[in-house]
Amino acid sequence: MFESLQERLGNAFQKFKGQKRLDEDNVREGLREVRLALLEADVNFKVVKGFVDQVKERALGEEVMKGLNPGQQIVKIVNEELTELLGGEQQGLDLSAKPLKLMMVGLQGSGKTTSSGKLALYLRKHHGRKPYLVPADVYRPAAIDQLHTLARQLDVPAYPSTTDMNPVDICRDAMVKAAELGCDLILFDTAGRLHIDETLMDELGNIRQACSPQEILFVADAMTGQDAVTVAEAFNDKLGITGVVLTKMDGDARGGAALSIKTVTGRSVKFVGVGEKLSDMELFHPDRIASRILGMGDMMTLIEKAQSEIDEDEAKAMAEKMAKAEFDFEDFLGHMRKLKKLGSMEGLLKMIPGMGNVMKQLGKDALPEDEMRRTEAIISSMTRQERRQPALINQSRKERIARGSGVKVADVNVLIKNFKQMSKVMQAMMGGGKKKGKFGLPK
Ligand code: GDP
Repeated sequence: MFESLQERLGNAFQKFKGQKRLDEDNVREGLREVRLALLEADVNFKVVKGFVDQVKERALGEEVMKGLNPGQQIVKIVNEELTELLGGEQQGLDLSAKPLKLMMVGLQGSGKTTSSGKLALYLRKHHGRKPYLVPADVYRPAAIDQLHTLARQLDVPAYPSTTDMNPVDICRDAMVKAAELGCDLILFDTAGRLHIDETLMDELGNIRQACSPQEILFVADAMTGQDAVTVAEAFNDKLGITGVVLTKMDGDARGGAALSIKTVTGRSVKFVGVGEKLSDMELFHPDRIASRILGMGDMMTLIEKAQSEIDEDEAKAMAEKMAKAEFDFEDFLGHMRKLKKLGSMEGLLKMIPGMGNVMKQLGKDALPEDEMRRTEAIISSMTRQERRQPALINQSRKERIARGSGVKVADVNVLIKNFKQMSKVMQAMMGGGKKKGKFGLPK
């Protein structure tokens, strides 16, 4: 999801590497890249402008946060502003009504029928609702069959629509049938066209009037970028949508739709479709998507945790050591013990920018809890000098360390390799000059 945007933003943040503080020049320079990254992701140009102006104002006006270097400060601001752009607080459905009537609208092929089935499953599973599916697209017999097939798969009732029926009559009668069956969730799967069409809009307006749905969910294909936003605007003007379901987020959508739709329509994305299976639907969490876009796991939680649980100056000293590539096994051991206070090591590492990817590359077994105990044993078997200068650890030293900690030489090799990689990622993220670090890597 949003891979190229993620990469471009990462490049933009590189501009802040080695900078002492945020100033007019480096902020302008860095934000130029951010702007291009967003435009390339097909985000609406007005949205991009507002976003960049806002980030700039905060970056230059904000009080410098202790312990964060300029790169981290800008990432923090961009993360918060991206979250806002994506809708801020997570918006679910108001589930107080019984029956809850959801009207699904959108262009043909956007994923309305699939999403109707997915929502039925989701709301049954998580909220104990009894769904009733209503095929109201009488123009394509296949659409009726498709929803009936989904209904059978889910083992939920569906209205027996036929192509000779009037969609408004179908919906009206379906409410009676749903009540008879004791269903408290009615999903109206309406017709879509390839383009916005007056006749269709009138029909949808009539259904809305006849059924008074609590929610009119606009279903948009995330892959269509800004087109989805334009269409959402038109549907909103005509019908007054209450939220958006963004489908096909599992594909290589660039991010334009997700990042523009709230600002342009004032309506939040409530759910995302992440695959073709009925279970492939998730609530849309703006903050998590923002973190994912920034490829940073959940660095904010880590910073907040570190700030609340470790002495701030100590955290800063650690960050500075990492930045200077002076972070060695000795520090690692010391901090590993302190960091344990913050929770699982695996969870913590995932929160560090870039570590999510490193851990993926290393395989899912890298550094879980008991691995950490072994790691501690291996580092404890090193001499102080070896911990301070890992480059000294040759084959015979490795054999001695392995014997001392009761592991294989291969385990010692893996630890050293992981540590080198971690050190490299941290140096890249934390900035620094050109001198060589402990592992002979450029700082
Ligand atoms: P409708 O015409 O709006 O009812 O669209 P459909 O529900 O028939 O979906 C059109 C196509 O998109 C179908 O092949 C679906 O399987 C596919 N689709 C829908 N949602 C998703 C999604 O979240 N991810 C993926 N990969 N495919 C989806």
